[in-house]
Amino acid sequence: MNRKILKSTDPDLRRVSVPVKKIDKKIIALITDLKDTLKVQKDPEGVGLAAPQIGKPVRIFVFEFEDWKRVIINPKVLEISKAKSVVPAKGDGKEILEGCLSLPNYYGPLARSNKIKIEYMDEFGATKTEEFKGFIAQIVQHEIDHLEGILFVDRILEQKKPLFRFENDEWEEVELV
Ligand code: ZN
Repeated sequence: MNRKILKSTDPDLRRVSVPVKKIDKKIIALITDLKDTLKVQKDPEGVGLAAPQIGKPVRIFVFEFEDWKRVIINPKVLEISKAKSVVPAKGDGKEILEGCLSLPNYYGPLARSNKIKIEYMDEFGATKTEEFKGFIAQIVQHEIDHLEGILFVDRILEQKKPLFRFENDEWEEVELV
């Protein structure tokens, strides 16, 4: 079912999510809700959604980008590359601006690690180890942050990066306070 996505000012987004103990009916319904909700996001489009964003503080997120489709439960970071750089967009050499469905139309050039290796449980309960690179690694780090109650604008502040708003086909730099 399509759920409402909490906005960045909602205190529920600041909670640390709890691990999933067992994949029961409730968890399966939550995963379906996450997939359904992500799918209908068109303006702006989304590539990932974490359970706390629909008001459920449990350690699950989903992402979908090109051929990459994953349901990630209880992620544990095994390795994360030290080299932090702004992930370049394919081909054109420009930076990828990071955004969030809880803060639609705001974007910033956030530096993330280029590689992250995690252990997680998939939606069928199987334990997996997988390494993600580039833009996918960026998505995974963004979603894991959600499970810790961290938003990308916190990282923008940390890294003293600019934040932009995209509205009516125009980019405008905004102040973060
Ligand atoms: Zn987000």
